[in-house]
Amino acid sequence: MKMMRQEVMTAPGEIVIRQVEIPEPGPDQVLVRIKRIGICGSDVHVYHGTHPYTKYPVTQGHEVSGEIVKCGQYAGKYKIGQKVTIEPQVFCGHCYPCLHGHYNLCEELKVMGFQTVGTASDYFAVDESKVTPLPDDFSYDEGAMIEPLAVTVHAAGRFPEMKGANVAILGCGPIGILLTQVCRACGAKKVVSTDISEFRMALAKQVGADAVANTQKEDFGDILLREFGPDKADVIYDCAGNDVTMNAAIQNARKGSTIILVAVFAKMANVDLAKLNDSELDLNTTMMYRHEDYVKAIQLVQEGKVQLKPLITKHFDMEHYLDAYKYIDDNREKTMKVIIDIDPED
Ligand SMILES: [Zn+2]
Ligand SMILES: [Zn+2]
Repeated sequence: MKMMRQEVMTAPGEIVIRQVEIPEPGPDQVLVRIKRIGICGSDVHVYHGTHPYTKYPVTQGHEVSGEIVKCGQYAGKYKIGQKVTIEPQVFCGHCYPCLHGHYNLCEELKVMGFQTVGTASDYFAVDESKVTPLPDDFSYDEGAMIEPLAVTVHAAGRFPEMKGANVAILGCGPIGILLTQVCRACGAKKVVSTDISEFRMALAKQVGADAVANTQKEDFGDILLREFGPDKADVIYDCAGNDVTMNAAIQNARKGSTIILVAVFAKMANVDLAKLNDSELDLNTTMMYRHEDYVKAIQLVQEGKVQLKPLITKHFDMEHYLDAYKYIDDNREKTMKVIIDIDPED
């Protein structure tokens, strides 16, 4: 019996690395040797016990890259040695959204690492259909960041008039910064990214924001006027997700324009719906991604239109999984993407 390591968060703030049997891939599955796991804000919520939809114990890991090492009997799409990433959505396939191609909105959606076993182990058996191939020249670090990039590709797609648009982004965490790059790649005329952290703003500027501004030092409405003129933004993305940012968007948006909520609100919102209505704003939302978003995300990186590496803050090996969370807590302001090297060899 061959054994492997598997991460388990047994309770908020507690992680054990246990030994379990290496799984055998089912007939339609492949076995992936996991190389990298990215940690994101949702994982940090699980660590703090503030994720509303996760029970313990849970094995984490939904931002992932690896290499196929074994194929099931009917899994013939990829060869052994293929670099891959994994789509972490587990969906029913028969509800209304699933039957209409919107499996990201499955009525019974589960996500690996939250409601079902995540990929934080040496090996992971997964349906071949959930695997997306990575180009040979991709690093495993980049591969593990396709998931958050796909979130932003999907979010950009929620505003079909992106070509030539003036775009304002509230919040320069990893998602805000990736979205900044994706909007530019999708033909936006000008992208202005805002935050309250100079560090995050500088990074947004470094990877492609046309302008950045600090909403703590300057009124958001003044920023819009200065950067875009009297017509302000065509679309405002909220990648921070709190009453302050959403109200800033609603109160300063051009009448008849669009606001898209990307971030997850931690609590029930207290926002100005009267103003939203008075300005006839389109308040749009976005939820995860679908396969085509993964494919486009990979393409954007390959074409050099999106840079992922500047967002990587630090690496930890699997034995120091818990230290990664402590580091994030201690360095919140200056942390973008923290990566766990499951297999540090590659
Ligand atoms: Zn994530
Ligand atoms: Zn479904």
